[in-house]
Amino acid sequence: NRVIQSEMQDLDLKWENKLRPQSFDEFPGQHDVKEKLKVFVQAASKRGEPLDHTLLFGPPGLGKTTLAQIVAHELKVDIKITSAPAIDKKGDLAAILTSLRPFSILFIDEIHRLPRAIEEYLYTAMEDYYIDIVTGEGLGSQSMKFQLVPFTLIGATTRAGLLDNPFRDRFGIQERLQFYDREALCKILLRSSEILSFKMDTEAATEIARRARGTPRVANRLLKRVRDYAEVKGDGTINNDIAVYALDQLGVDKNGLDEMDRRILKVIAEKYEGGPVGIETLAAALGEESETLEEVYEPFLIQEGFIQKTPRGRMLTNYTKQMNLL
Ligand code: ATP
Repeated sequence: NRVIQSEMQDLDLKWENKLRPQSFDEFPGQHDVKEKLKVFVQAASKRGEPLDHTLLFGPPGLGKTTLAQIVAHELKVDIKITSAPAIDKKGDLAAILTSLRPFSILFIDEIHRLPRAIEEYLYTAMEDYYIDIVTGEGLGSQSMKFQLVPFTLIGATTRAGLLDNPFRDRFGIQERLQFYDREALCKILLRSSEILSFKMDTEAATEIARRARGTPRVANRLLKRVRDYAEVKGDGTINNDIAVYALDQLGVDKNGLDEMDRRILKVIAEKYEGGPVGIETLAAALGEESETLEEVYEPFLIQEGFIQKTPRGRMLTNYTKQMNLL
C-alpha cells in the first residue's frame, strides 16, 4: 500500500477518529475557510435558522469531513454522515431525509457520484424542505408531498467540476480547501503525538510535514509509520534522525514524492518527451485509473509545480526538468 496515499482505508478509521479535531480552535490551517464558516455558523445560530447548504471541495484527506463535524458541533446539532455510493435509490435518500432532526446536518461525501435522478430528487429537499414520495405502482401509483424538517446538506467532493450547475447553485456556501503549509502540518503532527502520548521534537515534525504532500491524512499516516521505526530502531522518541531514516526507508523523498509520483514524472519525461500527454494515455502507460491520477496524484504534483495541465494534456514544467528529479 502506498504510505502517502491520501484516501481512506477502513483500518485507518479508528486512528483517524481519535485524531479528529472537535472544534475550530483545534483545527490548524484552512484559515480563510475556517473564519468564514465561523461567521456563517454564528449568524445561523443567532437567527435560529439552519446553516445554508454547504459544498466543501478539494483533494482527499484535507479535512472536509472533519470540518463538517466541527460545524455540527459548534451549531450543537446532530450530523448524519453518508457517502454518495451508499445512496443509489430515491428510497435510500428519502429514508435518510425523513429521519433527520430539525436543523441537523446531512453530510454526503463524494457527492459528485450521486446518480442524476437522486441529485434532482434533492432539489426540492434543499430548496423547500419537501420531497415527493410515490406510493403504489403503475396506474394506481400516487405522489405525495412529504414535508421535511429544516436541515443543512454539507456535500464534499474532490471533483467539484463534475457537479451540474443547477445542483451546485443550490449550495449557498461553497469553499475550496487548500493543501496545508508546513507550519500547519507541523502543528497537526505535534497535536497528534500528544494525543497518542509519544515524544516527538519539532525538528522531526517539520521533516514529516515537509514530506506529507500538504495533507493532514498523509501526515498522520507517515507519523504512524515513523513511530514504528522509532520503537524498533530507537528508544521510542521521534527525533529528526529517526524521522529522516524512516521516511527514506519508506521511499518518500524530500519533496514529498513517493515511488508512484516519480513514476508519473518519469513516464512523462521518457515516453512522451516531457509531454503534453493526455490523461487517458498516461493512465494506460502507468496501469492506473485516470480518475485516480486526476483526484489523488495530480493535484499535489500541479500545486508543487512538477507538472502542468494544458489543453493538450499534462506536461513537465521547466522546474521539474531542471531539478533533475528523474
Ligand atoms: P475525504 O475526501 O477522503 O473524505 P476529508 O477531506 O474528508 O477526506 P478528513 O477525513 O476530514 O478528510 O481528514 C482526514 C484526517 O486528517 C482525519 O484524521 C483528520 O482528523 C485529519 N485532519 C484533517 N484536517 C485536519 C486539521 N486541520 N487538523 C488536524 N487534523 C486534521
